[in-house]
Order: sequence, then C-alpha cells, then structure tokens
Amino acid sequence: MKRNIVKIDEYKCNGCGLCVTACHEGALQLIDGKARLISESYCDGLGDCLPECPTGAIVLEKRETSEYDEEAVKKHMEKSNENLQSKLGQWPCQLKLVPLNACGGILQAVKKALSNSGKMIPWNVVTISTDGRILED
Ligand code: SF4
Repeated sequence: MKRNIVKIDEYKCNGCGLCVTACHEGALQLIDGKARLISESYCDGLGDCLPECPTGAIVLEKRETSEYDEEAVKKHMEKSNENLQSKLGQWPCQLKLVPLNACGGILQAVKKALSNSGKMIPWNVVTISTDGRILED
C-alpha cells in the first residue's frame, strides 16, 4: 500500500535521540549513533517526530510500504516498557558526575562524611571518559 512514512537523512542526523522519545509507537531507535526506523509497520505516518528534529533530518514521504500495524505496536511498546523496569537491587541509588580534577577533594569529603555518619553505605568511585568508557574502577 502507498502511505505517508518517515524518511531519515542519516547525513543530517546528529544522533540526539529527540525523535526517538517523541515517537509514541517506538518506531525509531538510535543505532550506531543514528536514528533508524526499526519497522515500517510501527510508523503511523503522523510525523510527531518531525518538529523535534533540530537538523531537519526527518521528512514524511508517500511511498509503497507495509500497513501500519497497531497490534504489533502495542506488543512492541509493552515489551519496551518491560525492558525499562529497573534492574537495581538496591534503592536509593545515586550517580553523581563530577569533573576529573574535582575528584580528589570530593572523594575525601565523601569518605569523611560517611565516616562521620557512622552508617555503612556501600559506595564506589568510577572514572568514566567523555565517550563513556570506564577508565578506572
Ligand atoms: S531528532 Fe533528528 S538529529 Fe536527532 S536523532 Fe532524530 S533524526 Fe537524528
């Protein structure tokens, strides 16, 4: 069938992910740093993602494609929501990101605060590079 469906220009896409969160059908995902339409049958062709894109990488085009499948979208979204469930075994959990050159002083302050509190609170310091690699554990 011929209908409206999104088309993504991967050269314009900067991988911000705004379209992914704007898509109510879960039809878009970031794969290798670029937005991709994971299934044509998930895209309803309404274009909620278009105004979110800061680079104009997404357009709607009318082309031959599969029919929009509302049931498949429902199942897909249920599965996606299950995967969003927290796997944390402990709560509360806090992540604090600080610049590398601030670590020494903050680390000492945290150790002292924990020691003064008299409580046994599990904690760990991990150094992460700006591209997300763990440098020091
Ligand atoms: S909103 Fe635009 S630039 Fe951002 S990931 Fe989606 S297509 Fe790429």
